[in-house]
Amino acid sequence: MGTAPLIFNMQRFSTHDGPGIRTTVFFKGCPLACAWCHNPESQAFAPELMVDEERCRSCGLCARACPQRAIEIDPERGVARTDRARCTACGACADACPQGLREIAGEPAPPPAELVRRLLRDRMFYEKSGGGVTLSGGECLAQDIDYLVELCRLLREEGVHVAADTCGAAPRAHLERLLPFVNLWLYDIKVADETTHRALTGAPNGAILENLAYLAEHGAHINVRMPIVEPVNSGDDDIIAAAEAIKSYAGLCPVSLLPYHTTGNGKYARLGRAAPAGAFAVPSAQTMEHLRDLLRERGLLQVEIGG
Ligand code: SF4
Ligand code: SF4
Repeated sequence: MGTAPLIFNMQRFSTHDGPGIRTTVFFKGCPLACAWCHNPESQAFAPELMVDEERCRSCGLCARACPQRAIEIDPERGVARTDRARCTACGACADACPQGLREIAGEPAPPPAELVRRLLRDRMFYEKSGGGVTLSGGECLAQDIDYLVELCRLLREEGVHVAADTCGAAPRAHLERLLPFVNLWLYDIKVADETTHRALTGAPNGAILENLAYLAEHGAHINVRMPIVEPVNSGDDDIIAAAEAIKSYAGLCPVSLLPYHTTGNGKYARLGRAAPAGAFAVPSAQTMEHLRDLLRERGLLQVEIGG
């Protein structure tokens, strides 16, 4: 097995990442860089320091704890400033801060058997609700594939339903190896137009669509998920083009439309990064219903908003 993947969150009792009550495991690192990403801490394949600078009381304990001398109190603003070029994400300042304003996003995943043991604490909820475990990210399929296969194999051996929430930007070999162990593929499609896709995610979508077709051809249970971001993909032409792409690569599979939300915007500042360029807006309820109806008119009858 290669390097252990990083996990940046485990969400128990999730009801939005597949059927029933689930635990969602968020792996850190993604080959795409969507401009509207609401989990920016999920993008890099390395641990990162997150700081809530606004609530800092300038006690200086973090600066004293930092072995890299990366932290200084800014006398003008009365907050601890971090020189990220020096930071090694060691976590010493997070342990030292009495206000809990510092944290490291991303820690090595435990061995698959240990992670399964922890996930099975909620087995009763999975069984009673028809739920299970969802692998998410970041991009779960971009992680060490031996680790993922073993994790999924052990979960299935325990009778746990496994869903993979993926952007589809992954080596075909990873899909092939996981196919026998994944019950449900939550497959993100953002835009059909390749130029727009490349401009807004940093990568073309040809291989993503081909991977979708591969899963469909092999009888995988697929639920396409489309984040709807104004004005990226909320126009009639955008949604009609997406409908045609979904039909041609995956057939008449269920589709979930997920309205963009801004709850993650504050995370950019906590990572010391600029908020995304471009004006992205939350689509109205009427827009979402209109887009759902357009997809239905195009023959995709199993369309829901949310999910
Ligand atoms: S994570 Fe470690 S290196 Fe980075 S600022 Fe905190 S104490 Fe310093
Ligand atoms: S330890 Fe926490 S409250 Fe104190 S200066 Fe550092 S970030 Fe601010």
